[in-house]
Amino acid sequence: MNLIEVVNYYGVQPNRSGFINCIFHSDKTPNMKLYDDHFHCFGCGKHGDIITLTEQLFSLSPYQATQKLSQDFNIAPGNDYKNMKPLKTKRQSYIEQENRTYKILNFYCSFLEKCHEDYIPNNPDDEFNPLFIESLMNYEQYNYYRDIFITGTEDERQEFMIDCAEKLEILEKRFTQKNTFTGGKTDEATTESA
Ligand SMILES: [Zn+2]
Repeated sequence: MNLIEVVNYYGVQPNRSGFINCIFHSDKTPNMKLYDDHFHCFGCGKHGDIITLTEQLFSLSPYQATQKLSQDFNIAPGNDYKNMKPLKTKRQSYIEQENRTYKILNFYCSFLEKCHEDYIPNNPDDEFNPLFIESLMNYEQYNYYRDIFITGTEDERQEFMIDCAEKLEILEKRFTQKNTFTGGKTDEATTESA
């Protein structure tokens, strides 16, 4: 949270040097310097952070000032304002989750396609590689899931993400641990292109 941005939002414009008329004493020339995380008045010596400033601007208690900032800037209330970042809106989080889900499904489908090609048995007597079996068992199903994210409706996507949350989590863990979840490339593919 940037103090200068907050001040601007509340309609106070600092001059070119970043000074405003002090809000704590009757100030004829701008004596209060604004910094990203604090302010300091060279006239009366008042010094403080975003909360102190908001308190004074709106005649609020520290608690009320915190509440006001939380509401106006969509941040979670807490003590350490310096480290706070604006919360994502529900919609943003949902869209990110959708994108992430599609990425996982797409990655897994490509992975299965590759397993199918790479581990196809040369002789009928060869023992099946487990990854080849996995591709046979799962590809159609997961390709169908992926299609939901390409041609399905939002309701269908939502339903899938709820119903299959566990499956998705397992997949994500599996590929994150192997460091291969980087957007569609498997270990083998990465080595080949290197
Ligand atoms: Zn002052």
